[in-house]
This record gives sequence, structure tokens and C-alpha cells, in this order.
Amino acid sequence: MADDNEMRNKKIKVGIIYFAIIMVVLLLVNYGMNSLKNKEVKYSEFKQMIRDGEVAEVQLSAGGIVSFKKIGDNVIEYNTVATEDLTTITAFLEENKVKVYDGYIQQNSLLLTILLQFGIPLVFLGVIWYFISKNMSRGMGDAMSFGKNNAKIYAENETGIKFADVAGVDEAKESLEEIVDLLHNPQKYVAIGAKMPKGALLVGPPGTGKTMLAKAVAGEAHVPFFSMSGSEFVQMFVGMGAARVRDLFKQAQEKAPCIIFIDEIDAIGRSRETSFTTNDEREQTLNQLLTEMDGFDSSKGVVILGATNRPEILDPALLRPGRFDRQVIVEIPDYLGRKAILEVHAKKVKMSSNVDLDAIAKSTPGASGADLANIINEGALLAVRKGRSAVEQWDLEEALDVVIAGKVKKDRVLSPAEKRSVAYHEVGHAFLGHVLPYADEVHKITIIPRTKGALGFTTLLPGEEKYLITREEMEDDICSLLGGRAAEEVMLGQVSTGASSDIERATETARRMVTVYGMTERFNMVGLESPSHSYLDGTPIKRCSPETEKDIDDEILSIITKQHERAIKILLENREKVNEIAQYLLEKETITGEEFMTIYNSSSVTTPAITQNETPENESEAE
Ligand code: ADP
Ligand code: ZN
Repeated sequence: MADDNEMRNKKIKVGIIYFAIIMVVLLLVNYGMNSLKNKEVKYSEFKQMIRDGEVAEVQLSAGGIVSFKKIGDNVIEYNTVATEDLTTITAFLEENKVKVYDGYIQQNSLLLTILLQFGIPLVFLGVIWYFISKNMSRGMGDAMSFGKNNAKIYAENETGIKFADVAGVDEAKESLEEIVDLLHNPQKYVAIGAKMPKGALLVGPPGTGKTMLAKAVAGEAHVPFFSMSGSEFVQMFVGMGAARVRDLFKQAQEKAPCIIFIDEIDAIGRSRETSFTTNDEREQTLNQLLTEMDGFDSSKGVVILGATNRPEILDPALLRPGRFDRQVIVEIPDYLGRKAILEVHAKKVKMSSNVDLDAIAKSTPGASGADLANIINEGALLAVRKGRSAVEQWDLEEALDVVIAGKVKKDRVLSPAEKRSVAYHEVGHAFLGHVLPYADEVHKITIIPRTKGALGFTTLLPGEEKYLITREEMEDDICSLLGGRAAEEVMLGQVSTGASSDIERATETARRMVTVYGMTERFNMVGLESPSHSYLDGTPIKRCSPETEKDIDDEILSIITKQHERAIKILLENREKVNEIAQYLLEKETITGEEFMTIYNSSSVTTPAITQNETPENESEAE
């Protein structure tokens, strides 16, 4: 209840400030109006006006103040100070047949004036005040009626969305199928004593269909869907977010089995360690969420789905077992995915037979599901505007320009030239990964821009879990890391900024070879660095003189140079093959390890044996 009072005080304070501002404004306006309405004239001028018959009526008050109005002018009130005594003035006025009000009436009209000057603004103020306070209490209505009604929870008994409506995200769908099953049939899990997952985190860039997937889970399982956005939890007033979380869970549990969907969960779950400012409200909300997640009985079938595009900033507490311990990756769709999404949305619109969705899918690398849905919709709008009865290819192409033009600015869609360099870069990694004896095999190559700033990537499958890594393996690793840039150089004759993280990783590996693992002749088995303690900031502790540091740098440079040259050599020898794979990748945007192997093997070009042309040093002691 202390919170309640605090909030009320806050409301009153804000109210007073508003009131003061409005008062000042009104007074200024009033003053301005009065100075327009009132005019001082000399007494002699006044008398002249009387003689000229211009004056309508006159009021006399104590102190010789004379107020009057002109005939035909009801707005301006003239004032003058009489320099004659009252009887003289009265006589003069009578003589000119001007109406005079005596003091009594004047008193009355003064009262009226006061009423008019202050009363109306006061009423006006009252009205404004009423509206402001009404608005404010709408914003904090829940604070006033703590935990009783929380209007912002969005609940649907039946979302009506099915997995079939969400296209191109098959992997994500697969991992969500189990949750659907669980909601369908919690007993099955209880019977066998299996602990049910409480929640899953949908991770992916905006517009990739995370909300849709969550709704589809509810739709497939025929359970109610409760949703709320993380940013709605975090409010101005401490304690409100927590109350909303409590309320959301309470409502949901009454309706179990059901889905609770929390969009933008990073708004609540931002890591407590990484934020510079403490935010009491967010922390309280997060704690409440954690408590609720731990507290509820998952056997009833309440599943929490969270969505975020920045999983890395989430508080680790949220990701612990029993909370959001599963992550479902929802990627920006590749070419086939885009085509499927376009088809799903095209079904809802009348399409002319000349429409070629394939062409649209091909020219939109990097576009999200939302972008594609938008293209179809824009196309339909254009068709309507042009008075057509169905959407033509034209419309879609124009819509594509409209929708994508905005995206290019945001750096999300690659230009053809960029796409080409990304393709060669990734094939460089993959190719070396495959041909080098100790490097990891290719699992998947893609040139679709991803969440974390990487333009494309190659996933390599480590053959087996390794506990010891040999020098040759480390060298191959560096070589394949440098292969991306090397391919750009060899195949395109240009270099780009795309290799920065490869360079960082390769350099780090080389440094460790020199300073930690004693893999160079020059330093033999001297440890030059020790790994830092985890509670420090992560930088290793140096154990060498400043002169040695220079030598370390030389050694690192020589390792990197050697591997870079090796990568270039291998790629040069295999130009055709690399080219063939890169062209295929450009076409398909994502290729699997198997597809890679097929092209690699089918190609007529033979690969020369790849070995490091150096004599192994007798330094093979275990590190
Ligand atoms: P997110 O929650 O990931 O930001 P949404 O689920 O809100 O994205 O998607 C926004 C819209 O984009 C959806 O309503 C839908 O029309 C379209 N959309 C996004 N991804 C897909 C998809 N995979 N299949 C079909 N439509 C999609
Ligand atoms: Zn790379």
C-alpha cells in the first residue's frame, strides 16, 4: 500500500505542475486581452468625444475614474481620469445627453467583470484538469486498482492460426511441435514422470514470424493464447510491471492449458549485469517473472513462449533450466522460404495468372516474412488504385521497390555486388574447411544476412569432440578462417570489410599458439601469458618483457601470413571448383553440406593433394 500512496503523491505533484502552467498561460492571455480591450485617453480627448457625440455610455467611479464606450463599439473600454469634480462632469454629461450609470450599478458590473475575468477561466481550468486527471489515471489505472484489472493483456480463446500459415520456418516448427503435443496431452507426460518444458524462447529478427508461430502453437493445440509485450510490463511506476506479471499468470492459470506469449522479452529480461543504470522497475518485473515461472505447475499445461531478437542481452537467470531453457531459432527466410511465404500470402489475394512469385523471391534476399507479406499487400493496394481486378506482376514489382527501398537503407538487403562477395567469401571458408585435413567439415553455407551483423556464414561440423588440439589442427583452423578473405582476393580481386571477425579469431588462435601453447621455435615452451581469471575482465595476464612483446607480434604475423598464403594457394589451384560452388550458392542462397559435396565431387576438376610443405618439427609433445 505504500506504493499506492507514493503513486498518488506523484499524481498530485504532476497535477500541481500542470495547474501552475495553465494558470500562468491563462493569466498572460487575460492580461493580453485586457490591454487590447482597455484604452487610456486624456480627459480633454474624452470631453471632445462627448461633444462630438461619439460616446455611448459613461460610468463614474470613486477617485474620478471615468470609463466609457463609443457608439457602435462594444469591445473597447476607454478610461480616463477626471480633472474636474463630480458635479461639473455630471452637468457636462447631462448637457450632452450622455447616459450615466451611478456607482451602484458600476459596483455590480465590477462584480460581473471579476466573475467574467476569473470565473470563466476557472471553469475552463476545471474542465482541462478533469481531462488531464482522467488521462493520467488511465495510464495508471492499474496502479489505482492494483492487480484487479489489467486491461493490456491480450487474450484469444482460439487464434485460428495454424502451422500451415507460417511458411519457410520448418526447423522452428519442428521444435515447437513437441509443445503442441504437450498441450494436447499433458497426461501422457505426467504419466511417465517426464518434466515438462516450461517455456521456449523464439529468437530471430523482427518480422520473421515469431508472434505468428506462437499463435500457431496455440491454434494447433486449440488452447487460449495470452500475450503481452515486454515493454508494456515496464512502466513508469515501480511495482506495476510486477503486478501485471502476477496478473497475467493468474489469468492464464485459470485457463490452463494455454500459451502465454511475451513479446520483446528483452525489455524485461535485459541482463542485470550489463545495464549501466539500475532500473528498479525492470528488476522487480524480471524477478516477478522468474518467481512466477518457477512457481507454476507445468503439468497443468501452461507454456510460456518468449520472443526476442537479442538473446545475448538476456539475463542468464531467464535461460536457466526450468525457465526458457529452449531456444527456437527463427531465421530470416532463404530463397525457398521466401517463395513459400509469398505463396501463403498470395493465396489471400486475387492474383493474375502472369504473376511470377519465384522472381520476387529471387530478388528479395534478406527480406523478412513481414516484408514479403507487405509486398503482397502493397501490390494488392496498387492494383486497386489502378482499377485492376487482380494483382499483376507489375504491381508486385512496384511494391517490391516500395518495400525494399526502405530496407536497403537499413542495410538489411544485400546489393548484387555485395551478395557476390559474401558468396565467394563463404565458399572460401567452406572449401578450405573441406579440403584441409584437420579443419571441420561443412554443414551449411548461407549468404542470408543474419541477426548478429554477420552477412553470411558457414557452419562447420567438428568431426568429434576434441580434448587436445594439435598444432596442425590449429593451423588448419586459421587457414580456413582466412579462407573467406582469400577467396574474395583470388576470385574477385578485391577485399572487403567482411573478414573482420575472421581476422580477430585467427589472430587470437595464433596468439595462443605463441604465448600459451608453446608452439613456436622462438619461444620454445615458455608461457608468455596466463589465462585470466574468469572474474576479471577476460584479458590474459602478460608474463613477458616489453621487448618480448614485439617478438610475439612478429611470430603471430608470421603464422598468419603463412596461413593466408596457403589459403590463397589452395583456392587458386581450385578456382573452377570454388567458382562453381559460389555460383550455385548465389542461386540458392543456402546450401547444405551434402549439396556442397555433390558439386565438389561432380566437378571434373581434380584437387591436388593438400599438405603443408614443411618438415614437421620434433615438437610433438602434448600441450
Ligand atoms: P515477429 O513476431 O517475428 O516480429 P510476426 O509474427 O509479428 O513477426 O510477423 C509479422 C507478419 O509478417 C505476420 O503477421 C505475417 O503476415 C508475416 N510473416 C512473417 N513471417 C511469416 C512466415 N514465416 N510465414 C508467413 N507469414 C509471415
Ligand atoms: Zn568470414
